[in-house]
Amino acid sequence: SRNSASRSNTRNSLARLGAMSFITRFAPSPTGLLHLGHAYSAILAHDAARKAGGEFILRIEDIDATRCRPEFEAAIYEDLAWLGLRWPEPVRRQSEHFDDYAGALEKLRKLGVVYRCFLTRKEIAAASLSAPHEPGEGPDGIIYTGPSHPMSRDEEDSRIARGESFAWRLSIKYSQDLLGEDFARLVFVERDAGSNTERAMTARPELLGDVILGRKDTPTSYHLSVVHDDALQDVTHVIRGDDLRASTHIHVLLQKLLGLPTPIYRHHALLTGPDGKRYAKRERSLTLAALREAGVSAADIRFRIGLPV
Ligand code: GLU
Repeated sequence: SRNSASRSNTRNSLARLGAMSFITRFAPSPTGLLHLGHAYSAILAHDAARKAGGEFILRIEDIDATRCRPEFEAAIYEDLAWLGLRWPEPVRRQSEHFDDYAGALEKLRKLGVVYRCFLTRKEIAAASLSAPHEPGEGPDGIIYTGPSHPMSRDEEDSRIARGESFAWRLSIKYSQDLLGEDFARLVFVERDAGSNTERAMTARPELLGDVILGRKDTPTSYHLSVVHDDALQDVTHVIRGDDLRASTHIHVLLQKLLGLPTPIYRHHALLTGPDGKRYAKRERSLTLAALREAGVSAADIRFRIGLPV
């Protein structure tokens, strides 16, 4: 009967919802070979999903055409499979979805929370130096706190006509004006890996200033595409390195502005090598590919980075 059909539909979707209560991802950029630090991040996310009976997604964050290479993307698949990780296909490649991110940027433009910024890096540095507060360094370089007054439409038009390039920046001030009291109530949950406890955090997007969300040529940025895709892919838990902890404050603001859910965040410590420095893509000898070629096993890797084998 119709009733039992709809009951079983409900049951199916409930079962699906249950299975979907833990979705996490590993989202590398193919700008180099993966190293032990990546292995740590990927395995943490993968194991957390398995433990929760959830899903582990792989996403390729390749919006920067000048730095991403197909051979690095191929190596990502090879390295992760070698580590014993599995993920659903097809893998989302951000470079195939610029329209999606342009749509998200358009939404923010309609809200009036972004503006065109024609300043060069040098000019930003100079502007920060003459600002009343200490110039800060954010995860993306110098923190830019925005212009003292908005540029007139006429000036924008003439600069565009002259072919000057610009970046779309998210205005903290306009966001604050739009959200009112809600701006101070931007909260997210941070799960502490060590104690396994959850803490309510207040997002402070002003710490990062007016970040770039798109450029004339690349219609998106890391911040915009990561927030868009985490929501699109129903990611419930973001597990990533401490180096992205500050970015979360901007991500939570973007989620609020775009009407997207905020996942639970867990930022893990960055692995350091024997010299006490964190692993970076430039240290070729410690790439997963090099270790594999040297006869190291996937179990050795887990052991070496302190994860259960
Ligand atoms: N694509 C980013 C990176 O390679 C990571 C994105 C994220 O985990 O939020 O550093």
